[in-house]
Amino acid sequence: MHVPDDNPLHWIEADSEAWSQRGLERRLRVVENASAARITLDGRTLINFGSNDYLGLATDARVIEAACRTARDFGWGATSSPLICGWRAPHDELCEALAEFEGTAAALVFPSGFAANSGVLAALATPADVVYLDRLAHACLVAGARISRAKLRVFPHNDADRLGEILTRERSRFGRAIIATEGLFSMDGDIPPLKELCAVAEQHQAILVVDEAHATGVLGANGRGACEAAGVLERVPVRVGTLSKALGSIGGFVAGSRALIDLILNRAPTFLFSTALPPAAAAAARESLRILRSEPDRRTRLHSLAESLRQALPGPVPGNGPIIPWPVGDSGRTIALANALSDAGLFVPAIRPPTVPEGTARLRISLTAAHDLDQMQILSQTLRDYI
Ligand SMILES: *Cc1c(COP(=O)(O)O)cnc(C)c1O
Repeated sequence: MHVPDDNPLHWIEADSEAWSQRGLERRLRVVENASAARITLDGRTLINFGSNDYLGLATDARVIEAACRTARDFGWGATSSPLICGWRAPHDELCEALAEFEGTAAALVFPSGFAANSGVLAALATPADVVYLDRLAHACLVAGARISRAKLRVFPHNDADRLGEILTRERSRFGRAIIATEGLFSMDGDIPPLKELCAVAEQHQAILVVDEAHATGVLGANGRGACEAAGVLERVPVRVGTLSKALGSIGGFVAGSRALIDLILNRAPTFLFSTALPPAAAAAARESLRILRSEPDRRTRLHSLAESLRQALPGPVPGNGPIIPWPVGDSGRTIALANALSDAGLFVPAIRPPTVPEGTARLRISLTAAHDLDQMQILSQTLRDYI
């Protein structure tokens, strides 16, 4: 018999218990320091292999000063969504700087990379359309496809041939077709076959969207991302990025044609119905972008650290950038390994479902230009000791 319960949230306890039994429960931990290569947790300072601050800009004095100066001039909060009265000179200047950096006619900043990606898909697709996502694409692309109510299809990871077959079979059933993938996969560290994906998109009149969240500032001769590295900047009409990883700030952006940006600013719900970034955050990101462009040695250093770590680790190491996954499989074992590394002075996050598919829990090592070769040595030696 159903026993009525006054508390509408009574199910949470049992739900959490099941979650925690599967090794999936997470807790917030307060980080006590602020430097790129080190992290202080529970009073202990560890070498930090968990941050996305690839170029060490989040704590750069010039970036902090740009934010402080702009907060004094413009106040802190933007006070409104961009199209009401939240858009200020620092937002406009950042968009111009991003468009110039990306080599596009225009760019638009969002409150986060999540908002940028989900808003772009929501603006481009309608229920008559179809969105094809790489199986490992970030949750914000899934969210965007769902908001749009377009048909959502998933193709095998980095499999352009399979995607081509699917499109050949069903393209005619839909209006617009959108293909979305990541430039540098956040949890696997690998890059998609962008030339092949461009060819599939062109053959089937599909719109290719590349989420460069982890690749902006990291890949490509000028740090424009995976599309630049693959030589397909001109062939990818919609490029999305974040200001919160290599740029060390907060916010997201989309770069493309003037018509695309005008559509997005009129249609993306995450742009229309959310308060604009604090102007100071926009100014900080613009300063980071200036540094990213004027100090390319940060990127060079990041890649040489990644290269030396890959060589020092046993066995073939998947991926090819500053994200190095260490596959384990079982969530509990991954946590035990992360704890052992922590005891040895290394912070390497355990990544579990739902961030990655069931049964594919892993350690995820991420590097920054602020690391040094000794730290690569310590990490590879410690990992060897535990396998
Ligand atoms: C981090 C991330 C985002 C979200 O960016 P935020 O600026 O942190 O909201 C989007 N896509 C991918 C692939 C990411 O890794």
